[in-house]
Amino acid sequence: MSAKTSPDGRDAGLHPDTLAVGYGYDPREAYGAVKPPIVLSSTFAYPSAAAAKDVHRAYFDGPAPERDAPFIYARLDHPNLKLLQERLAVLDGAEDAAAFASGMAAISATMLAHLKPGQSVLHTTPLYGGTHGLLHGPMTGLGIKPVGIADALDRMSLEAAAETALAHGPIGLIHVESPANPTAGIADIQMIAAFADELGGRQQTRPVVSVDNTFLGSLLQKPLECGADLCITSLTKYAGGHSDLLGGSVTGSLQRIGPLRMLRTLLGTHMDPFTSWLLLRSLETFPLRNARANANARAIAAFLRDHQKVETVTYLGFLDEGSPAKAVYDRQCGGAGSTFSFRIKGGEREAFAMLDRLKVFRMAVSLGGTESLICHSASTTHYLVPPEIRKMVGVDDSSLRISVGIEHPDDLVADLDQALKAF
Ligand SMILES: *Cc1c(COP(=O)(O)O)cnc(C)c1O
Repeated sequence: MSAKTSPDGRDAGLHPDTLAVGYGYDPREAYGAVKPPIVLSSTFAYPSAAAAKDVHRAYFDGPAPERDAPFIYARLDHPNLKLLQERLAVLDGAEDAAAFASGMAAISATMLAHLKPGQSVLHTTPLYGGTHGLLHGPMTGLGIKPVGIADALDRMSLEAAAETALAHGPIGLIHVESPANPTAGIADIQMIAAFADELGGRQQTRPVVSVDNTFLGSLLQKPLECGADLCITSLTKYAGGHSDLLGGSVTGSLQRIGPLRMLRTLLGTHMDPFTSWLLLRSLETFPLRNARANANARAIAAFLRDHQKVETVTYLGFLDEGSPAKAVYDRQCGGAGSTFSFRIKGGEREAFAMLDRLKVFRMAVSLGGTESLICHSASTTHYLVPPEIRKMVGVDDSSLRISVGIEHPDDLVADLDQALKAF
């Protein structure tokens, strides 16, 4: 990875596992404390009137506006946020990062920063429910047209979507979610970035390419290295990893992240000091948790695939050899992750009977925590999605989604095994 290094060069060439533990923090900044303190102050004192003017000049007119300026007010920036952003950037192999109050705050800031009335936006399908709601609700209300790409591995499909979009107006943004939920559909980020370059020649300005990297997370997929401009992550999921906070981030070049941070200041959707500190703590064990959850998921997917009451398992590790999805997966992803869907032989009644018998798995939406979660997609995460669209994205009354945690794999398999006896 193209890790940047601290000014004294101490971090040069270190692995993500090491950077996740200590990158960017110097105990000399805080009484020698081995761990960073939480700085809750909402405002920061100026040493003199002249210094106050200098601070504001640095924030608004500096070479990297606002990023390297002294602190002014916590909605603009604060010490825990700054440290977290440095660590998120280094893990994504990015120059810079902006952290937000939630994944949706990061996504909505990206949309508002890059889309103007009269423009259109291309997006992969299906989209995360919140993102779909934002694009087809408030953004459509602002005169922006969202157009779905039917197959994000296929150049012709991309061209067809672009023609529809261009009939409305210039394409300001191409928003990619890969792998998609719950289809595990893969988008070829490299191909989409190259297509954005071509569109740039055709419509004067090149669309920005944003990738929602939540489903695999920064340890398994690096969209920026594939040519994306912005990498968006819901930190609520794998990075936070304990289902006890909400957060989001956008990483990319200094030039792209600066304006997003300025917009965040106006929207008031920054991440608060305590959540930033919790995330710094979570990131330390991120590589460990990820490795364990991924291994557990592989074991559970294999168990389910061989179970007589299971119809299909949509796990990335089972992609067909020789398929276009598998070729892009091998190039683009470092692993299959730990969230996947499966369908049982039965309908809602059988699914509910099984769910109500589970003892270790907790029934809840969300993913990426230390605990294993399961939910019935059609009646929860996809409740608002019309049945015919549900069918298109592979969700019916037999579909269950699981997020595998870090418990002992034998306990998880045994729990599913006894629950599948419910029907
Ligand atoms: C959860 C999620 C989001 C939204 O993140 P929040 O932190 O809940 O706002 C966005 N995209 C994907 C793929 C998600 O799973």
